Amino acid sequence: MRKFFRVLISIILILVLLLIINFLPTMSLATRKMSVFVGNWVNVYYENEKDAARDTFELADKRAGELATLLGITEKQDINIYIYDNQKTMQRKKYGFIAPLLGLDWYIGDNIGTSVILTSPANPGKVHDYDNNKNAVLHEIVHAYNHLINPDMTYWVDNGLAGYLSGQKPGDDMTIYGAIPSLKQTQVKGILAPITFANFNGYPFSYTYIEYLNYTYSWDRIQKFARTGDFETSFAASEQEIYNGWHHFLISSPHQDQ
Ligand SMILES: [Zn+2]
Repeated sequence: MRKFFRVLISIILILVLLLIINFLPTMSLATRKMSVFVGNWVNVYYENEKDAARDTFELADKRAGELATLLGITEKQDINIYIYDNQKTMQRKKYGFIAPLLGLDWYIGDNIGTSVILTSPANPGKVHDYDNNKNAVLHEIVHAYNHLINPDMTYWVDNGLAGYLSGQKPGDDMTIYGAIPSLKQTQVKGILAPITFANFNGYPFSYTYIEYLNYTYSWDRIQKFARTGDFETSFAASEQEIYNGWHHFLISSPHQDQ
């Protein structure tokens, strides 16, 4: 019996140690020898790919103020963007050593609070190209602002706003993305949310959810909703009613954005 407990404790200690080791890369977002571009709205830290970093910096600093205003933020916020030459380095910064082993080729950027991590557009990986990798910085900046205005924003709305405001418009034919997510799916949360969400094509679908809200209500109301997450006070409708309206909007094509 004693031996059993000794083995058990050893196993637990090894697992705890592995867990600690896994998360070592997340301790600091900066890597060695990073340089920085300091802007009016954002600061961009980068490794060796200077040209791609400058290009991303110019886009981010130019657009961040406008994105902030749309979300009701009037003062400059401290947004630091870290650009890594290698996609694997970026992936390790939030989930540790295990992340690049999961084969998430689409995973090129993220936010951690008001910090943004991004793969360098110079090395965009298998499923992105230079331009959409670069534009992803705007998506992540929206996440950073969302975190400031409402840290409890749902994963669905957070990504819907990020996709919509950064112009990641899906093609007109939404049928290629499979079944329209259920109400339950739009409430996705928890540690596996990013994977579940990507698997049911949450990116294009949540874009159209915000598109629908903008088509139906004023942007002021959407801004209020972003801050509060409250359907009733923002839209005088329940979550189910908004879902039904969006569902109808999606199946009654064609619809136009403006
Ligand atoms: Zn996102």
